[in-house]
Amino acid sequence: MFKLERIVRKNILSLQPYSSARDEFSGTSGVFLDANENPFGKLNRYPDPYQKVLKQKLAKLKKVDNDNIFVGNGSDEVIDLAYRIFCEPNNDKVLTFSPTYGMYDVSAAINAIELIKIPLTDKFQIDLNLTNDYLSESALKIIFICSPNNPTGNIIDKSDIEYLLNSFKGIVIIDEAYIDFCSSESWCTMLDQYPNLIVSQTFSKAWGLAAARVGVAYASKEIIQLFNRVKPPYNMSEPNQNAAISALSDYNNFLENIQAIKKEKEKLTLELNQLDLVMKIYPSDANFLLVEVTDANRIYNDLVDQKIITRNRNNVIRNCIRISIGTPKENEILLNALKNINR
Ligand SMILES: *Cc1c(COP(=O)(O)O)cnc(C)c1O
Repeated sequence: MFKLERIVRKNILSLQPYSSARDEFSGTSGVFLDANENPFGKLNRYPDPYQKVLKQKLAKLKKVDNDNIFVGNGSDEVIDLAYRIFCEPNNDKVLTFSPTYGMYDVSAAINAIELIKIPLTDKFQIDLNLTNDYLSESALKIIFICSPNNPTGNIIDKSDIEYLLNSFKGIVIIDEAYIDFCSSESWCTMLDQYPNLIVSQTFSKAWGLAAARVGVAYASKEIIQLFNRVKPPYNMSEPNQNAAISALSDYNNFLENIQAIKKEKEKLTLELNQLDLVMKIYPSDANFLLVEVTDANRIYNDLVDQKIITRNRNNVIRNCIRISIGTPKENEILLNALKNINR
């Protein structure tokens, strides 16, 4: 059985959280003389610490309750808070499946947490045989699963995730930064079934708001309460909350952008496949392509010389570059540049 109290750090369980002016009086009209704000100006008031309007819209869209939602300053805040809630520095461990998103690793290092890296199979799926040995380790607190995975682009098999959710007694964080680009269902519909599940999503990719820094975690009410206790009181600025609210209000625009990106991805895949320097394009459930080329370092540098910036992933997957899908015009510039690079 999963017991939340058993895996939360003791100091967090006994924490007396900061009580902000907006915690003590949450009404919206009146003469506000309680937070030492400047009475003049446009952005002079503190933002809603619990982002209620934004959460209402998200709750409706995702078919969860407001209390199942945490909104953070990008997914990076979600990841960092998870470490601080569940992992005792210099003692606890987390597990990731490599190659994957770099922030799990960096956040582990910042929080003095040991990171166990299990290599994905040659199909970039989870190797349960390699993973099983670690599941009973009491110091292991969090398993990160990035699905669709960055930088490999593929969704992780549902049955493997189910197995881990059922057999691991710690927290499973599924990072769904790219979920809106694929047809697989989000795991946030499964919160009732798995008390140890945290689903992380973001406004940085499909919603087109990377500059606004809006990350979202979906989990049980008990887990969300812990996030709320540990977060900085006003962790998301009002302009950023409003940017997300306004994006959610134009759902058609969101769907159109995704359709356009998917269409461009297919087109770019076909055209890249014609090039001699392209060895392989991995199947992608995301808004980027992982492309194996003849010589990633040289081709990456040649592109940079032409002011086209891709991501060189040669260090993690030999001779691979990761290419984000751009506008039709940007993709055409990329293709023309690649045509002029020697094999
Ligand atoms: C881009 C990305 C994010 C987004 O992070 P933000 O801090 O929300 O911008 C999260 N996870 C993965 C795997 C990503 O690739």
